[in-house]
Amino acid sequence: MTDMPSFVYTAHAARVIFGAGTLQRLPEEVARLDLERVLVLATPQQQASAHDLALRLGARAVGVYAGAMMHTPVAVTEDAMRTVSERRVDGLIAVGGGSTTGLAKAIALRTDLPQIVAPTTYAGSEMTPILGETKDGAKVTQSSPKILPEVVIYDVDLTLSLPPALSGTSGINAIAHAVEALYAKERNPVISLMALEAIGTLFRSLPRVVADPAGREARAEALYGAWLCGTCLGAVGMALHHKLCHTLGGSFDLPHAETHTVVLPHALAYIAPAIPEVMQRLARVLGAADAPGALYDLAGRVGAKRALRDLGMPESGIDMATDRALANPYWNPRPLEREAIRALIARAWRGDPPQPDGGYAI
Ligand code: NAD
Repeated sequence: MTDMPSFVYTAHAARVIFGAGTLQRLPEEVARLDLERVLVLATPQQQASAHDLALRLGARAVGVYAGAMMHTPVAVTEDAMRTVSERRVDGLIAVGGGSTTGLAKAIALRTDLPQIVAPTTYAGSEMTPILGETKDGAKVTQSSPKILPEVVIYDVDLTLSLPPALSGTSGINAIAHAVEALYAKERNPVISLMALEAIGTLFRSLPRVVADPAGREARAEALYGAWLCGTCLGAVGMALHHKLCHTLGGSFDLPHAETHTVVLPHALAYIAPAIPEVMQRLARVLGAADAPGALYDLAGRVGAKRALRDLGMPESGIDMATDRALANPYWNPRPLEREAIRALIARAWRGDPPQPDGGYAI
C-alpha cells in the first residue's frame, strides 16, 4: 500500500511552544489571548502544581479545579461548569495528561472558551479535535473545532516526574497512533512523514527515558515524538488495532495505555500481509526486519506487561472479545477473519510474541 495519489489533508491550526522551561511563557500566552479570568484544571494528584501555577498567573487566574478524571465523566464536567459560570471564567489552562486535557475539551465544547494545554504525558490528546466522554458507563466520542486547544505548551520539565512505567506505556500508546496513521483509510504523505519520524524518535528514546527518567535529552525526544503522534491521531482515522483496544478496554475495564502496548505488535502482524510497503518503511525506521517483533521487544525493554491476562482479562473473554471485534468493525486494510482474529487475541492474552510469519494466516 502506498500513500494515495490523491488525498484530503485537514491540518488543524494550533500554536505549539516546545522546549524545556517553556511553561514560564504561560503568562505571556494568557495575555496574548487577552484572557483575564482563567481557570487552571488538574487531576487531584496534580493539584499542588496547579495551585502553584495559578499563583504565578496572579490576578488573571480565578481558581483551580482539580477534579479531572480518566475518560472524562460528564458528571465531573457538569460540576466544573458550575465553577466556570460562577467565576465568569474566560479561558482554560490544563496542565496534565489526557484526563486533564479531556476536561478542558469538554468545557470548551460547551462554552467555546479558549484552551491552553501543557501536557505532562505522551497521550497526545492536545493535538486532536476529538473528545470521548463517559456517562452511565458508556463512552461517546465526538469531534468539533471547539474541542481543539488553541495553544499547546510542551515543557519537557513537566514530564520528568512521569513514572517510568507510565512513560513506557504512554509512549507506546502514542506509537500506536502513528503506526495506524500509516495505513489508515485517510492516510496522506504529510501525515506519513510525521508518523515515521514519531515512531523512530519514540522507539529510540523510550528505553533511555525509562533507564534515566530525569534525563532531559531523551525526555525531549519522547515528547517531540508524542506531539507528532497526537497530530497523526487528530488528522487520520484508525483501524484494527484501535478497534481491538476499544473493545478489550470497554469489555474488561483494562487500563488504556497498557492495553495498547500489549495489542500493537499483534495487530500489526495481522495487518502486515496487506501492507508490504508500510512494513518496509517501518522496518527501516525501527532498524529491524521484523517490525511487530521489534515493538514487542520494545514493550519488554520499557518493562511493560505483554500479556492481557496480566492486565486482568479472563481467558473466558477471548471468544467474547473476538465476537465484539468482528461486530461493527472499523475499516481495515486486511479483512477481519474470525479464526485469525481469535488466534491474535489468544496470543496477546498469553503474552506470546506476535506470530512469526507475520500473518495470523489460517
Ligand atoms: P492521565 O491523564 O489519566 O494521567 C494518569 C495519571 O498520571 C494521573 O493520576 C495523573 O495525575 C498522573 N500524571 C500525569 N502526568 C504526570 C507527571 N508528569 N508526573 C506525575 N504524574 C503524572 O493519563 P493519560 O494516559 O495521559 O490520559 C488518558 C486519557 O486520555 C484517557 O481518558 C484517554 O481516553 C484520553 N485520550 C484522549 C485522546 C483524544 O484525542 N481525545 C487521545 C489520547 C488519550
